[in-house]
Amino acid sequence: MNSIPSFKLSGTAIPVSTDHMLDEICEHFVEHADVERNSHLAVLRSKAGIVRIRADNGTLLIELDCPTLEALQAARTDIAEHLFYFAGEEPLELNWTPLQSLPALPNLHEITVVSAVDVTPHMRRVIFSCADVTPFAGGEMHVRLLVPPKGRLPVWPGFREDGRIAWPEGDDALLVRVYTIRTVDIERGEIWIDFLQHPMPGISTPGADFARNARTGERAALLGPGGGGLPSAQSIILIGDESALPAIARIAAEVPAGTQMRAIIEVEDKAEEQPLPTNGELKVRWLHRCDYPDRQDRILLSQAKAAIASSDAETFVWAACEKDDVRAIRAVLKGRRHDNKKIYVAWYWERSLK
Ligand SMILES: Cc1cc2nc3c(=O)[nH]c(=O)nc-3n(C[C@H](O)[C@H](O)[C@H](O)COP(=O)(O)OP(=O)(O)OC[C@H]3O[C@@H](n4cnc5c(N)ncnc54)[C@H](O)[C@@H]3O)c2cc1C
Repeated sequence: MNSIPSFKLSGTAIPVSTDHMLDEICEHFVEHADVERNSHLAVLRSKAGIVRIRADNGTLLIELDCPTLEALQAARTDIAEHLFYFAGEEPLELNWTPLQSLPALPNLHEITVVSAVDVTPHMRRVIFSCADVTPFAGGEMHVRLLVPPKGRLPVWPGFREDGRIAWPEGDDALLVRVYTIRTVDIERGEIWIDFLQHPMPGISTPGADFARNARTGERAALLGPGGGGLPSAQSIILIGDESALPAIARIAAEVPAGTQMRAIIEVEDKAEEQPLPTNGELKVRWLHRCDYPDRQDRILLSQAKAAIASSDAETFVWAACEKDDVRAIRAVLKGRRHDNKKIYVAWYWERSLK
């Protein structure tokens, strides 16, 4: 924490199992915050504030302590969304002490399509204008893109009583997908997002389709940024497929001079490779899926394992790709007790949805 928190809020949650909930929270937030845990208490510390969650007789007593009202509101939403996600189908009661409400989601930014261009045959870049791009320049790369139904005036989300996001429904329902801010152009007030085109016969791909059909003047919104901070280390391994290529390109572009990077990037073929300018030193190994024997999966995984095995304990391992491969990479890192603070491993898409 680099500022003195001064906005506070309490809540109570009654889940089926407080222990299970604390386990889930600690496991998830370890990639976003410094996490301390004893049998009854979890404390999460990050730039956004401090969250204390104590298990007491079947109830979770939640205390939030944040530097701004916006951060407090965002922390409440974050905790509420995750508690309900971890509860799944099980009942969960969540209540908060009253909070001075902001008129809209503080991290919702309306954007307008400026232009769209094919960077490679399967990567479409959409450039958006945004009234204030500065929140996106701070290093957190990930956003939720919200696209209203074609031809309708957008209705943006608000808050539910329990702190979760109240999404518009029915005819106003939004398309929501997670993407990476590839570039922030502060002078022009523009943001670039690169969308992989991954057409699949008989299956719709609404996020990719939005980019393919984007027209100048079309309105959308971003929720965020949140998560996916730029790794800070002298030596970094970057592992990913096309969906992670925008993030890898941004990391390469923003690391300080002298940073040593090795990247293993899987793309369809040579035409999908992109230049990755950097002030650091970057060695890239491109893997071409079209050359794999019988187009078998998991070559990226085997290459990732070899790269991790040959790296030292100080190396930051950054990986983003398909869910099963991410699980396998996490297991390798856990097996070698790689320092959690030197890991970012996230799944960007799920093969089993095919
Ligand atoms: C933190 C984060 C950052 C991300 N950043 C980016 C980014 O900058 N650019 C980007 O293009 N993607 C990015 N992704 C991945 C993107 O959110 C998913 O690929 C998303 O599923 C695309 O939505 P869709 O509507 O096109 O397809 P969906 O409707 O979600 O899926 C349709 C079908 O396509 C398959 N599919 C989805 N993604 C892929 C893929 N990558 N390769 C092959 N098949 C796929 C699914 O299995 C499903 O069968 C990111 C994901 C996360 C979590």
